[in-house]
Amino acid sequence: MNNAKYIIEKELFDRDNLIYLLSVEGDERQYIYQKADEIKQKYVGNKVYFRGLIEFSNICAKNCYYCGIRRGNGEVQRYYLNEEEVLQAAEFAWKEGYGSLVIQSGERKDKWFVNQITNLLEKISDRTGEELGITLSMGEQTEETFLRWKKAGAERYLIRVEAFNPELYHKIHPNDAIHSYQQRLETLKLLQKTGYQTGTGVMIGLPFQTKSHLADDLLFFKDFDIDMVGMGPYIEHEQTPLYQYKDQLLPKKERLELSIRMVALLRIIMKDVNIAATTAMQTLDPLGREKALKAGANVMMPNITPVRYREGYLLYENKPCLDEEAEDCKSCLEARIHLAGGEIAWYKKGNPKHFHKRQQANNN
Ligand code: SAH
Ligand code: SF4
Repeated sequence: MNNAKYIIEKELFDRDNLIYLLSVEGDERQYIYQKADEIKQKYVGNKVYFRGLIEFSNICAKNCYYCGIRRGNGEVQRYYLNEEEVLQAAEFAWKEGYGSLVIQSGERKDKWFVNQITNLLEKISDRTGEELGITLSMGEQTEETFLRWKKAGAERYLIRVEAFNPELYHKIHPNDAIHSYQQRLETLKLLQKTGYQTGTGVMIGLPFQTKSHLADDLLFFKDFDIDMVGMGPYIEHEQTPLYQYKDQLLPKKERLELSIRMVALLRIIMKDVNIAATTAMQTLDPLGREKALKAGANVMMPNITPVRYREGYLLYENKPCLDEEAEDCKSCLEARIHLAGGEIAWYKKGNPKHFHKRQQANNN
């Protein structure tokens, strides 16, 4: 028996073994991918759940060193979608049978923003008969805000920890109160406490990141009992401080492979969570997301932001689908998913099975 097989069959997932699994090549690597697919079919099936992605606003109070829409980037033209634009995108997702939405935005905590999101959630729920699963991804917020947004119709929240290792976290964020590592973790706890389906994730291939960091990220997802994960390759952006390290990064092919390996290992370790095939994977390889679907991912997030705003939401360079209207994206996704052996779960919210299990455990 090869080592990878032994580790996986005996479920010996400690840091050293995970580093090993992140590093092996050849037959052992193949075994990992095959096993991830097997576990996916067994625990969550071959259905792919769609989340229509609305990039609500690129106005952000934070200055993360990696992100193209950071506050300090003066070259970005800032926008936010008006109410009708958001409602139309939501209605499109509903009518097309996407089953759920993600509304993402730069981080803001001011009263106007919190009220506007509450208002949008209420109107979306009204117009779509509460049939859409709504996910928010708008950074750190207060308990009061989370409760308000939940009451208005949000069920899920995504907030990536970005890097679980605190030293690495500090290297990619300014060292001040609004970029606090502790606060990021507290926010995740708050989301679980307030009853959200809770998602997190990391970037892969960051400068200064080692395989040991990535192994700890995987262990963190498990220890934290997370319901959904969105992780993808870090992609450099010229108008950001981290760009100076671009020559130290893994080549793109390896960065993508490492990202897909993380997806596969997470599927093997956690089995029933929802895992996204992320857009950043597609940036590095036109078939990047399909590769992730074959290796354990079961969620895709087609962009349904009105096209004229997409140039404004460049978190990283070469972001794909900048000029495609949502419907074009839909047909291209459908063909690609069939090629990857998956089937789209139309009209399904696609709640993570893991969340139900966690709820039951909490109630017992
Ligand atoms: N402001 C919110 C949500 C929008 S940013 C937040 O930060 O949580 C969404 C995600 O984009 C971030 O969590 C980060 O992981 C990712 N991202 C930002 N810049 C990136 C880059 N250069 N490469 C890859 N992913 C990036
Ligand atoms: Fe703002 Fe999110 Fe980008 Fe950080 S990652 S600068 S919080 S949009």
